[in-house]
Amino acid sequence: MNVELHRFTRPCACGHEHKITVKGVWIEPGAVSRLGKLLRDYKHPVIVCDANTKKAALESMKDYFAALEVLEVTGSDIHANDSYVEKVQKCLDGEADVLVAVGSGTIHDLTRYVAYTRGLNFISVPTAASVDGFVSTVAAMTWHGMKKTLTAVAPMYVLADTDIFAKAPFRLTASGISDLMGKYTSLLDWKISHIVTGEYYCETVSRLEFEAVREVESVLDQIRDGNPACMEKLMYALILSGLAMQMIGNSRPASGAEHHVSHLWEMEIINDYIDALHGEKVSVGLILCLEYYEKIRKAIEKGTCKVVDGRAYETELLQETFGAKGKYQDALEENDPNLMEGLDLADLESKLPLIAQELAALPESGRMRRLLADAGCVTRMEDLGMSADKKDLTLRLCPYVRRRLTLLRLAKNFSFPGSLY
Ligand SMILES: [Zn+2]
Ligand SMILES: [Zn+2]
Repeated sequence: MNVELHRFTRPCACGHEHKITVKGVWIEPGAVSRLGKLLRDYKHPVIVCDANTKKAALESMKDYFAALEVLEVTGSDIHANDSYVEKVQKCLDGEADVLVAVGSGTIHDLTRYVAYTRGLNFISVPTAASVDGFVSTVAAMTWHGMKKTLTAVAPMYVLADTDIFAKAPFRLTASGISDLMGKYTSLLDWKISHIVTGEYYCETVSRLEFEAVREVESVLDQIRDGNPACMEKLMYALILSGLAMQMIGNSRPASGAEHHVSHLWEMEIINDYIDALHGEKVSVGLILCLEYYEKIRKAIEKGTCKVVDGRAYETELLQETFGAKGKYQDALEENDPNLMEGLDLADLESKLPLIAQELAALPESGRMRRLLADAGCVTRMEDLGMSADKKDLTLRLCPYVRRRLTLLRLAKNFSFPGSLY
């Protein structure tokens, strides 16, 4: 399938002209056979991979691996962080004029960042349908211990070869399913922020993503069985989510409170290192957020949700947590200026019914947990080696990892029986 990108760049009802920098996306068996033609005008292409992703792609790409220079990132626990970026920068041939990322999320983030710093184009060959970031213009990085979204470059082309990604270990695919299901709360957070603050929102982009998520949701059984056509639907939805970020110009449509949970745990502020995939953490984050959002909705509907003033930073809490890891100043800097500074509490109160209305469209948390569990995804903190008694602290702290308004952040102004505040 050749994804028809021109569909997304037509003049939009939101008034913006959405831009997509990626020039072509193919999701099909044998997609990598197109690589030769795409590399024709380059003198020195370099494949960036790691041992696992090389193994995954080798059969389909053996001629390319034999003919091109290969930069195999080595290490026992490869991450998109400052030290691995340095490693890739050191190993990358100065003559390289185009990069080919053969891998999943981490290899893509390393490649897109290094490509950006060197002013190079890159081509994406995803080896698993494990994340939605393949076509992202930004790299999700841990930079000196803080989660950062760094400016990078999107791939020029994506060659998603079903012969490669449909054979990925199921754990990676399950992670992709979870990353995708996380869009329920990311899109909700975006809409709520639009309702409360007037933040720019595009109904078309939101609907596109929503439909792709629903489509995947309807074939989860077949994805679990490894049905290639359904795996392609998952890959399409993940790539679409990345395209949505390009169209909006940031990760707003693809990352909300559920991702903030994941980022908080990755920063190891209140926990030790968690050996889990991105989507696995998002999966649990999604369930935690859905459960809390459900409580908010019920309280609003019952009339027991009171608006209180929770706009100020929880300085003491931040000092005790981020501060204990030497990250208090970093946390303040990330959050400056305070997102809720200008928030009108009376206005927020008047919008509670609208918020409840949006929340009513979310999938029920118990149903989502079953759906994900049946699909082979992680759903509980314990599955990640996280103690469940860190749940409340996670929900209170995670809105501070990124300066982006979510309902979870706004809910610091909500008090109801069973609320965190
Ligand atoms: Zn639009
Ligand atoms: Zn994600």
